[in-house]
Amino acid sequence: MVKSEGVHKSFGATHVLKGIDLEVAPREVFCLVGPSGSGKSTFLRCINHLEKINAGRLSVDGQLVGYRQKGDKLYELKEREVAAQRRDIGMVFQRFNLFPHMTAVENVMEAPVQVKRESKAAARERAVKLLDRVGLGDKTNNYPAQLSGGQQQRVAIARALAMQPKLMLFDEPTSALDPELVGEVLDVMRGLAEDGMTMIVVTHEMGFAREVGDSIVFMDDGVVVESGHPREVLTNPRHERTKSFLSKVL
Ligand code: ADP
Ligand code: MG
Repeated sequence: MVKSEGVHKSFGATHVLKGIDLEVAPREVFCLVGPSGSGKSTFLRCINHLEKINAGRLSVDGQLVGYRQKGDKLYELKEREVAAQRRDIGMVFQRFNLFPHMTAVENVMEAPVQVKRESKAAARERAVKLLDRVGLGDKTNNYPAQLSGGQQQRVAIARALAMQPKLMLFDEPTSALDPELVGEVLDVMRGLAEDGMTMIVVTHEMGFAREVGDSIVFMDDGVVVESGHPREVLTNPRHERTKSFLSKVL
């Protein structure tokens, strides 16, 4: 579903991604961990067209991100084509970024109505089902300010799912939550995983990585240091940098 080959990204003189090679299979729960500043968010943002890579190849579901290849030449995709690629990718951030003036159900319906031109009735019906799926069937008409952080994050997940993405990106989705609210969000993510969603999850929740993850990549200073099955990497890290990181988060 995702293939990254020698991906580099710099911001001015700051070299952030220094040749990322990895592959995410369909239906895989792929956990990305590493210290702050190692480039995890930047990598997710490159997949979702929020940043442009400087070198290498990045593809989602067999399509190059942002480019079309003809022969050995690359052509930048037009805005409309980029939008089409982005529609298939859902992203959930640390901060939930819900529209404050819209209810939960309106937040979830917004993109299908505005972007996909779905009818309001159909979009609302699906939005209610999605909110039910994330355990918020009784909160459809609440405004974000009337919801806890964990509930808001679950609305944000439902909103991403409303576009029927083939890939979900989670960037530390529980890091801004009070500890007692983390579990309800991880439970929703676990459910998604069981339903076969392909997900890349940046997280410090090693319990989640161990129980739900199919693979884990430890990234540091813009490179993949170590990767493998979570139980293997978490119980038996090979590299000093991985050991040192894990000793801090476990
Ligand atoms: P992580 O998510 O692993 O904490 P980030 O991808 O957010 O790491 O950041 C990696 C590095 O890239 C940091 O040094 C950060 O300051 C830098 N960086 C990220 N975004 C930008 C930007 N838009 N402009 C300049 N530097 C950036
Ligand atoms: Mg980050």
